[in-house]
Order: sequence, then C-alpha cells, then structure tokens
Amino acid sequence: MIIKDQSVFALGADKDQAIHVQTGEIIEIYTKDCFDNQVTSEEYEMHCFDWNHVNPATGPLYIEGAKKGNVLKVDILNIEMDNYGTMCAMPEEGVLGHDVNETTFKKVRVQDGICYFNELKLPIRPMIGVIGVAPELEQIATGTPASHGGNMDNVKITTGTTLYLPIFHDGAYFACGDVHAAMGDGEVMGTGVEIAAKITLRFEIVENVSINNPRLEDDDYIYTIASDEDMEKAIYMATKDMSSVLQKHLGYTLNDAGMLMSLCGNLEICQVVDPKRTVRMRIPKTVCDKIL
Ligand code: CA
Ligand code: ZN
Repeated sequence: MIIKDQSVFALGADKDQAIHVQTGEIIEIYTKDCFDNQVTSEEYEMHCFDWNHVNPATGPLYIEGAKKGNVLKVDILNIEMDNYGTMCAMPEEGVLGHDVNETTFKKVRVQDGICYFNELKLPIRPMIGVIGVAPELEQIATGTPASHGGNMDNVKITTGTTLYLPIFHDGAYFACGDVHAAMGDGEVMGTGVEIAAKITLRFEIVENVSINNPRLEDDDYIYTIASDEDMEKAIYMATKDMSSVLQKHLGYTLNDAGMLMSLCGNLEICQVVDPKRTVRMRIPKTVCDKIL
C-alpha cells in the first residue's frame, strides 16, 4: 500500500482523516522534509516561510486490530531519499542560536551514499525524525516528542530497526515524517540534513504487554527512549524503563539492574533542540535481548 500527500501537523486520533491499513502489509509512505519542502534554494527568503507548515508527518494510519493498551511494533524496512537535503542556522534556534545573527540555508547533495557538505564528503545515516501514534490525551504538534513518540530525532530509528510504541487509542493513528539523510546526536543547531523520502515499513501488534514510552531494537542493542522538558526527568524515565526491562527479563533486583546499567548501559542524547529533550538508554543484546 502506498500512502502519499496526506500531511498532518499534529498527532491525534482523527477518525475522519485516517487511512486504514492492515498489520503485516508492506506500506510505503512518502514524506516531505521538515520545512514542508518550502525551502527550495539557499537564497530562500525567510519572510516567505509559512510557520504553520513545519514538521509535516504523513498519516494518520488507522491500523486494523491495534487495541488500546497493546504495543505497536513497527519494522522499518527501508528509507529512500531525495537527491537534495536542506540544513539551516537561524537566530534563537539550537544550542548556539543566541550567537547567530542571520538565517542561512544550505543545500546538501545526497548521492551514492554521500552527503556533500561544502568541501566535505560525509556518509549518509538515514533516520526518521518524527514517528509516533495519537497521544493519550489531546493532540500534540508533530514538532514535540513525548510518550507517544513524535519528534524524537533519534539517529537509531533507521532501516533494519524495530520501534515499539504504546497504543493509546484503538487503531493507534500512526504517522511519520522528518527524515534526515544524516544527523549528529543532539541535532545542536536544530536541523539534520532535512530531506523528502519514502519510508517502507510494516506493522504488527504485540498483545498482553503495555509500555509507557517508545522502545527500540536493532541487531546489537535494545533501547528505551524518553522525552521531557527537563533533561534530568527524561534521563530518569529512560533509565527507569530499562531497569524494568532488566528486572523482568534477567530476574534482577532494582539494585542489580541499576548496577548493570552503570556497568554497560549507555545513556545517549537523541536531541536537545525540540520543545522536549529526548534521551535513550542502550543495553547490548549480549546482556539482554528482550525489550518488551
Ligand atoms: Ca525533527
Ligand atoms: Zn528534521
């Protein structure tokens, strides 16, 4: 099934707009870049920019059989990108925003696995910035990450990985967008190589288990992910969620699970520039290979 041209700017349980899909089917989702493809050149004039159209996500998808309280398993099968991405530096945006005097855009050619930035050639690291379901309460703008997913800007959400999301409403109301051809942990100036893309994925429902926050696994690691306005709280939530995983699957006490994370868990920053900060806790699968 191919999903095109239906952007939302908030994640919510919108019955009327929802596109119905089945678990197990291969779904191809076309996504625009985080500027809604508005920035067409490096000479783009910022006063033309429509701020109501940032961070579009394609969806929402109503997944048949997704029941509130279950877990949505999303296998990310492929990310195919456009040939050009866009970056920017903008006053008051990002970690150095106070020091930035004027807005500049940069077009980054993306070809044959390489991002061409100025004179440098950097490898692509495709990832999905915005991915999530309808939140428990009112809808949340696509630019904000929270327990439903959203703008997590997590470089680990890439081809070959599996993301687990809480389901807060029957049907889940999934949407995704904001692909980056490459991004550093933190996304310190507020953008990665923002790029239009086609995401191929597949859904499954996991019954008889509930989660509070997104989780992820790749070939070698399991991750818990948490977002909060307060970075310390995000760190606490991601660490606590991983502690629960280790207690459940290794039969450890809280103290042993905590010490094990202190020994071999990596606490990593996803992003520090969105309305909430996002972090992840990573454990090698050689230690624990179950995430739910
Ligand atoms: Ca983003
Ligand atoms: Zn982005």
